[in-house]
Order: sequence, then structure tokens, then C-alpha cells
Amino acid sequence: MSMISMRNVSKWYGPQFQVLKDCSVEVEKGEVIVVCGPSGSGKSTLIKTVNALETIQNGEIVVDGVTVNASKTNLPKLRARVGMVFQHFELFPHLSIIQNLCLGQEKVLGRGHDEAVAKAEALLKRVGLSAHAQKFPGQLSGGQQQRVAIARALVMDPVCMLFDEPTSALDPEMITEVLDVMVELAREGMTMMVVTHEMGFARKVAHRVVFMDQGEIVEDALKEDFFGTPRSERARNFLSKIL
Ligand code: ADP
Ligand code: MG
Repeated sequence: MSMISMRNVSKWYGPQFQVLKDCSVEVEKGEVIVVCGPSGSGKSTLIKTVNALETIQNGEIVVDGVTVNASKTNLPKLRARVGMVFQHFELFPHLSIIQNLCLGQEKVLGRGHDEAVAKAEALLKRVGLSAHAQKFPGQLSGGQQQRVAIARALVMDPVCMLFDEPTSALDPEMITEVLDVMVELAREGMTMMVVTHEMGFARKVAHRVVFMDQGEIVEDALKEDFFGTPRSERARNFLSKIL
């Protein structure tokens, strides 16, 4: 059974503009999928539909056996199980790092404070930021904030992780420290759907590459095939611009 199953998903923004056109993607447990494609092709919209940050008009999305686009779905519970990391870190600026990592655990999962703190400390250690627990987001670099954002998703024990261009707002020297954390996560077997143009990351840990253009999934190929012999002209053209 797939961890993430998207079948014939279509979405419109307003009455006219179809942003997702009959998109189908399966992500198996432990699989890492990289989603790439030109700006405006619908990558962010696609990935946001997985935890219902965007609604869909047609099709079906099932995550870990739970139908996302069903009216009875408990969305806060779903979102706790589906970790999401955005381009902009979106930490709570008025909360310390440790408070950022405890809030969801206590409010959504109902964990006690001590348990939440212990979990937060363990994850901060894992992303190499134990020394910064009491600081506020504004006191950290972009790369550090993004690692906190990853840790904040992981404290919830997600069944899968979604990343939307997690390194594209970072200065070049900070990209590696964030990618390293993601590579480690991938190697530990986390199911991941990652929108990124970091093809080094894709080559290292992706199992498949999904290429989107104008709201369509144009290619869904094994990494080796995508980089070796992209089938479509559109993918070849895209690759020639970014590699
Ligand atoms: P990508 O992440 O690949 O750059 P997006 O999913 O952000 O693409 O956007 C796909 C298309 O949908 C773009 O043309 C964008 O302008 C449009 N779009 C994105 N969000 C909205 C919105 N909330 N309302 C209307 N159009 C939107
Ligand atoms: Mg985007």
C-alpha cells in the first residue's frame, strides 16, 4: 500500500484556471520523490493538497490510509502526521526554539510538557542545534531556522514529510547544512515528497523524479531514467536550464 496516493487530482483556482490537471502520484513507504518543474507549474499547489492546505475539486488523495479530501477527515490530526517544511521557515517569531518545538506536541498530540521538551531536545540534537534551544528564531541564521523547522515537523512523529523548496530562500553556504539533514532523514527511511531544484540531492537520495509542467505530471520516472534519458522534450529543456 502506498503511503501517499494521489489519483486523478484536478484543481482549479477560480472558475477558469486549472492549476492541477489529472495528476496521479504514488509514494511508497520509505520512498523519496523529488518534484521539479518550471516556476508556476503547480508544484507547491500539488504538495499542499497532500495535507489539505489546498482543496481539490476532482480525484482522491489518501495518506497512510486516511482519505484527505473527505469531509469527515480530522485535518489537525492529519497535518500532525504529515510534516511540512516550506521555503520560508515560518517559525513562530515570538516563541523560543524549544517553545516552537513543544507547541504542536502539547496542543495537537496532547503530550505532557516534560515529554514534549525531551522530544524537542532529542530532535534539536539531531539537527545539531542543542546549543540554541533558548534563542528566538530571529537570532538564528536562515539555515539554522530551516533545520529547526525540520525538527519541529519531526517531533510530531510524522508518517511522511513534505518539503517545498526548503533551500531556495537560503544563502548558498547554508544550503548544504539543510540538505545534509534531509539526506540523513531519507537514508533512515522517511517517506518524503520534496519539491526542489537541488539535483545533487535528487541524485543522492531520490528514488523517483516527478516532472511537472503547466499543471500536468509530464514524467514520473526512476531517477536514473530521468537524468539519463528524459522522455519528454519539456523535461530535457528544463534540465538543460538547471544543470
Ligand atoms: P510552482 O510551485 O510550481 O511555482 P504554484 O503551485 O505555486 O507553482 O502555482 C501554480 C500556478 O497557480 C501559478 O500560475 C500561480 O500563479 C497560480 N496560483 C498559485 N496560488 C494561487 C492562488 N491562491 N490563487 C490563484 N492562483 C494561484
Ligand atoms: Mg512553488
